[in-house]
Amino acid sequence: MRRTSRTLADGREIIYFDDSADPPPRTAEDTRDLPAQAPHSEVRRDPLTGEWVAMAAHRQTRTYKPPADLCPLCPSAPGRPTEIPESSYDVVVFENRFPSFATAVPDTSDTVPGLSMVARAPGRGRCEVVCFTSDHNTSFGQLSPARVRTVVDAWADRTTALSSLPGVEQVFPFENRGEEIGVTLHHPHGQIYGYPFVTPKTARMLEVAGEYQAEHGRPLLGDVLAAERAAGTRVVASGEHWTAYVPAAARWPVEVHVVPHRQVPDLPALTPAERDEFAHLYLEVLHRLDALYDRPLPYIAAWHQAPVRTGRDLAWLHLEVFSILRTADKLKYLAGSESGMAVWINDVTPEQIAERLRG
Ligand SMILES: [Zn+2]
Repeated sequence: MRRTSRTLADGREIIYFDDSADPPPRTAEDTRDLPAQAPHSEVRRDPLTGEWVAMAAHRQTRTYKPPADLCPLCPSAPGRPTEIPESSYDVVVFENRFPSFATAVPDTSDTVPGLSMVARAPGRGRCEVVCFTSDHNTSFGQLSPARVRTVVDAWADRTTALSSLPGVEQVFPFENRGEEIGVTLHHPHGQIYGYPFVTPKTARMLEVAGEYQAEHGRPLLGDVLAAERAAGTRVVASGEHWTAYVPAAARWPVEVHVVPHRQVPDLPALTPAERDEFAHLYLEVLHRLDALYDRPLPYIAAWHQAPVRTGRDLAWLHLEVFSILRTADKLKYLAGSESGMAVWINDVTPEQIAERLRG
């Protein structure tokens, strides 16, 4: 893999990750006349739940479902410059033009004026876009194992880089796939958020893991993994280094957790052998997901990594993949119980879904 960092016309960084060590040089210039970046983003803490909420009003103007010949994630062609100056690429990462968090946002007051109980801070972090291929008309599941390996290396590189930025407390690589999920660009891509706080979900999971560790002296996810492998009823795919299973208390109509057998805090800690096997195993999982309803499955793939500064000894890296599709053409909506009370009602049992995914 070769890594080349360049700068776009408005000062944003773009990084090429090439599958081979000897690709063409990545020297193309961004010829566009782009206005300088002036993102405005702030976070406010909900005084009733203690959870942070981000406000990024400038995102309302972002590109929304452009026609394929105007796709900003395709390589540039003569007379048609895009976000990627090169005429082809393998994997490319660049700073989001419409970020929810950015390093150069202005200072704010410490609380919302007139409401001293509502903490407020600049939305200081970084949001990046990861393009998995220059081919507009494919999907992550159709990538080669070698390309997925390059993507894993890119995720690991960005986790290290974003973790070193002032104020970033957690790095979250993820992919939204499918219009049903709200994807605004069809080109196969994901995103990486560097959050200025530990996310509520991670904070809660670390709390639970800490209680379990104190009581049993062992990491929680290690015991869950061992029990799932022994039971076998919810396992979808497994290898020497990874197991994929439907969790016993799955929230979503389709949900698979892909878990490394070794406790590591984050993607940079994975060995080359673990990265290689992940590529094969994850592709198998994605093929099974698309076969479930015999159509491309809309999904969210979410990497759970340790925060940058806290809970690193308790955390256990894993990927959670889930879908809102409960039948081939019916969506599960997050309605009253889910949205109002955060209580999920699942219409299928995890054992049924695992059996269908094993097919
Ligand atoms: Zn495209």
